[in-house]
Amino acid sequence: MALKTGDEYLKSVADLKLEAHMMGHKSGDLGRHGLVKPSQKAVAFTFDAAHDPATQDLFCVESSLCKQEINRFTHLHQSTEDLVNKVKMQRYCGISTACCFQRCVGLDAANAIFSTTYDCDQEHGTDYHQRFKEYWAWVQTNDLVVDGAMTDPKGDRGKRPKDQVDPDLFLRVKERREGGIVISGAKLHQTGMLNSHEILVMPTLTMRPGEEAWAVCCAVPTNEKGVRYIYGRQASDTRKLEADPLDVGNSFGGQEVMTVFEDVFVPGERVFLDGEVDFSGTLVERFASYHRQSYGGCKVGVGDALIGATALIAQMNGVAKASHIREKIVDMIHLNETIFSCGIACSAMGAPTASGNYLVNLLLANVCKLNVTRFPYELARLATDVAGGLLGTMPSAADLNDPVTGPYIKKYLAANPNYPVVDRMKVLRLIENLVVGAGAVGYLVESMHGAGPPTAQRIMIGRQANLEQKVEQVKNMLGIA
Ligand code: SF4
Ligand code: FE
Repeated sequence: MALKTGDEYLKSVADLKLEAHMMGHKSGDLGRHGLVKPSQKAVAFTFDAAHDPATQDLFCVESSLCKQEINRFTHLHQSTEDLVNKVKMQRYCGISTACCFQRCVGLDAANAIFSTTYDCDQEHGTDYHQRFKEYWAWVQTNDLVVDGAMTDPKGDRGKRPKDQVDPDLFLRVKERREGGIVISGAKLHQTGMLNSHEILVMPTLTMRPGEEAWAVCCAVPTNEKGVRYIYGRQASDTRKLEADPLDVGNSFGGQEVMTVFEDVFVPGERVFLDGEVDFSGTLVERFASYHRQSYGGCKVGVGDALIGATALIAQMNGVAKASHIREKIVDMIHLNETIFSCGIACSAMGAPTASGNYLVNLLLANVCKLNVTRFPYELARLATDVAGGLLGTMPSAADLNDPVTGPYIKKYLAANPNYPVVDRMKVLRLIENLVVGAGAVGYLVESMHGAGPPTAQRIMIGRQANLEQKVEQVKNMLGIA
């Protein structure tokens, strides 16, 4: 069964019986939990879209491994067209959910591990690539959600992993047992973790000789013994627990989880890098570049939702025709499409790896993500400007429904008579969600730090730009020796 429906996915993830520590309580039955539900709904969307006649051509693709029709969210890219289609698919999911739909991290990890294990085997005579192919064919056939886990806590930023007071501050191989390894450490900022079946653990940075214990890549089931989840708080998160959904702004949503690996055993067939420090950097660089490409789709889609909401609130406020409002909305579109252009460009300029799958153009993927660290903030600023101050002062749904205060709210928040007040409130709550509420974690904070902060992209841009060649060309042009 290679194409689950959204409901089948929800059941399969409920069957994992995951538990998380959430605001002082240990919670199970997460699919029914008000905080988790919106994020599971967002992942379920990626399954239903593969069955929707309007989108199945984009979401369904033939697997290179098992030759079955699979969901593109588990596909190993076979061409630049596949890379372009990935970005288009992400944009579509972004505008449809206005949040992080979580499934791209595993896709990006898989494509990075596929080519890195191949290269590592060529150099070291290991057999990681075949292991990974077998593992990933199983993921594709069962249409699983995989969380790519890269970010270690990192402790004292001025020290290497082996020099930290606590060696677990970078996830490591702690012990070797018959048939496998035991890992210990944590991964932070895991958006899709609680909604995933599997985890692909990767190193967080380029390891050096002497740091072999930290150069580890492996797969772990999310319900494995020793894996613990501690739920992250977000702005306005408990609004999701209130009876009336109006104040939440979006029925889809994201979440973040700290994941602790307490002496977790990983069998040998699920280990894809174990001490080959010279390939840790390759893996990090390829994963990061794929995920920086991803932001050229998903954040553009969320930007589409914000632009749509901003244009709609302008109509509702009766200012849609004002030239300064139109200019601001055009500015938002320009910024958003600039990000998309980078996402498409790094895909179209991608190239095959020695293993056969396709890798994005690293320079352009990093340019894409560097724009993402800035443009959504400007989009949010413009949306706040157009929406007006009511964005920060609007009464609650409970007061709208109250027999005493409700009539006043309806009387004094009335604007364009073509729209009921409650609809105006809905649009303002969506904008609020994206610019200062729970959705801003995915749209703003994650745009800054997800797939690496801006400095990481600057380093890669500096490395990839071939500056020396440009200098030589100018020298030649000017006849300078
Ligand atoms: Fe996908 Fe974007 Fe979420 Fe990353 S941040 S998992 S690319 S939706
Ligand atoms: Fe992300």
